[in-house]
This record gives sequence, structure tokens and C-alpha cells, in this order.
Amino acid sequence: MSTLVTGIAELVTNDPAAGPGPLGVVPDAAVVVADGAIAWVGPASGAPEADHRIDVGSRAVIPGFVDSHAHLVFAGDRAAEFEARMSGARYDGGGIASTVAATRAAPDEELRGRVRALVAEMRSQGTTTVEIKSGYGLTVADEARALRLAAEVTPETTFLGAHVVPGEYAGRPGDYVELVTGPMLAACAPHARWIDVFCEPASAHAFDGEAARAVLEAGRVAGLGLRVHANQLSAGPGVQLAVELDAASADHCTHLTDADVDALAAGSTVATLLPGVEFSTRSPYPDARRLLSAGVPVALATDCNPGTCFSSSMAFCVALAVREMSMTPAEALWAATAGGAAALRRRDVGNLRPGSRADLAVLDAPSYRHLAYRPGVPIVRTLELPPA
Ligand SMILES: [Zn+2]
Repeated sequence: MSTLVTGIAELVTNDPAAGPGPLGVVPDAAVVVADGAIAWVGPASGAPEADHRIDVGSRAVIPGFVDSHAHLVFAGDRAAEFEARMSGARYDGGGIASTVAATRAAPDEELRGRVRALVAEMRSQGTTTVEIKSGYGLTVADEARALRLAAEVTPETTFLGAHVVPGEYAGRPGDYVELVTGPMLAACAPHARWIDVFCEPASAHAFDGEAARAVLEAGRVAGLGLRVHANQLSAGPGVQLAVELDAASADHCTHLTDADVDALAAGSTVATLLPGVEFSTRSPYPDARRLLSAGVPVALATDCNPGTCFSSSMAFCVALAVREMSMTPAEALWAATAGGAAALRRRDVGNLRPGSRADLAVLDAPSYRHLAYRPGVPIVRTLELPPA
């Protein structure tokens, strides 16, 4: 069964072959989808017939957002920590321990319900692809459980046993890295596509460059792709390690040296910026313009998590990127769609080329520019299509 989507005032394809600019914008457009994939894209005047027709009523349509960084398997609530931070307390990664305790204590059904509710919340706001990390279990059984639950809702699952050193390994980080790279990895790899590590020598809770390298290299041997929480709190070794090991993405990139920027520009690792974290921790934003000027591919993601950014809204990230990081509305939208896809090394999402997944989001607005122009207003939603 095919469906013709009409009434598209402005279509963003992220396909330079379809229209001008990296966004490949087509005015007065139509899209035909068939069997869950894009079958045809072009001016409405030339649209072929289809079995069904949806008229979106002179609205803008964009590729569904690709949120390439989220921590959705957790229990508990850290609103009090947020309030303390807004009252002047500093974030150093220590609050993760409270989420770990709550997550370990939660039954499967509670965690499953929370993950599904958050994915539905994202979908209702235009996010059609989401990456989900473990990292709040930090035992072999609890990490494997988190990844099993994540794999029920997305193929983009990431083993983050090396999130922080759990309390029972305090003062013995080397022993914990042995656990992560040994039995924990063996139990988690079957449920994961990626491995990730919080590389942050400035935090007493995270991992230095040597430990991060051991985690990533073990993950690669187990067949996993690589991602790194890098340079969030300080200009540490994370970014250059990510590039050296050809990680798909270095995430945060808040504190970068010139050598870090040069490495990103020369490599194939995407710089994923998470401005909701800087907003929610009242920290300085990454310098997006410096990365873009150097030719580094940039993605935007939410980092949705209970501690440092409890927002599932990609539109909010776009607005922050434009207002606080001086990205243009076009750069920010590209980063939130095609950029996220690049950070997951996916070509079938984040764009509306023929053959790509039929992941469309519709705006209650005539142009994508309204994503940043109308911050905080829920104008974007996933376009639900008839079953294939
Ligand atoms: Zn994160």
C-alpha cells in the first residue's frame, strides 16, 4: 500500500539533489511512501497517484529527528539535585549513583514502562530514531537487563557499563574496568550495537584515557561500534581517543583544544553537541561555530537523562543551538536529523531520499525556521502513516 502526502508548504529532504542547500528544501511538495520507505519526492504538481492520501494542510514537513544520545533506562527522580544545582551546587557526575541505586531496585515492568513512555514522548515530538544507553545498572545482570529492555524499542542500543565506577568498586577503578571489559561485556554485547565510555579525568567518578581505551578496544573486539562521552567537564583525552579509534561519535565536546578540533576535522568522528545539558547544569555551551568552521560534522542530541538534562525535546535542542550556540536554523535542523544519522552511521534515516525510511515529522508552521523561532511551543509531531 502506498500513501501520497500532500499540502506540504515546505519539505526538508536533507538531499541536495532534491533542492537547494544541504537541507534540500522543496516548496509546495509531495511525498509518496510505500512499504515503510520513501518512494517519491518532488513538487506537488508532479506527484503520482497512491492508494491513500494525507493532506497536511500547508504545513512544513521534515525528516523525523534522530536523537543519537539518550539514557532512558532508569528509575528514580533527581529534581532535588536539579534544584540544588540551580541554587549554586556544581555538577561532577556524582549524582549518577542515586539513579543507579533506584534502577537496580526497580522491577523489569517498571523500567519497561518508563522506557516506553519516554520513547512515546519523543515520538509525539517528532523523534523517530533514538539511541538508548545502559549505564544505570553497573552490574553484569543489571546492565544486560537495561540493554534487553532498550532493544525492545530501538536497534540503536549502547553498552555504557563504563558510565561511572559504582560505589562497591570505590578506589578500585582498575578492578571495575576488568569487570566491564570481561564478564559484563560478554553479557551485554549480544543486546548492544555500540559501546560507550564516560572519559573524564576531571571527575572522580568517571574514567581516564587509559581506562577508556581499554573499554573501547574490548568493545571493538566484541564487534561493537564505538562512541565516547568526551570532553564534557574538561579538555581531556576523550575526543582524540575517539578519533584515533574511529568512533562514530564524540559526544559533548564542550571543552576542546585546537588539537581536538584538528583531529575531528581530519577524522570521520561526528561531534555530537548536547546543549540541553549545558542549559540544565548552567554551564558554558560548546563552541559550535568553531567546529563548523573547521568542517567538523556536527550532530545535536538531547542526552535525555534524569540528572543533567531531563528533556526529550529535539526541538528544544534546535532552539538552544540557534540561540545559544549561534548555529543557523538550517545548520541546527541538519544536525538534529542528518547529523544524528551520521553519528549513528545510518544512511536510511535523517533524510527523505527515495529508499530511506518513511520517517516524517510535520510542523504546525509553514517553515522549519519556526522550530527555533517558536521555542517551547509544541509545533512538531511525528506524521503517523497508514500501516504498510
Ligand atoms: Zn550522556
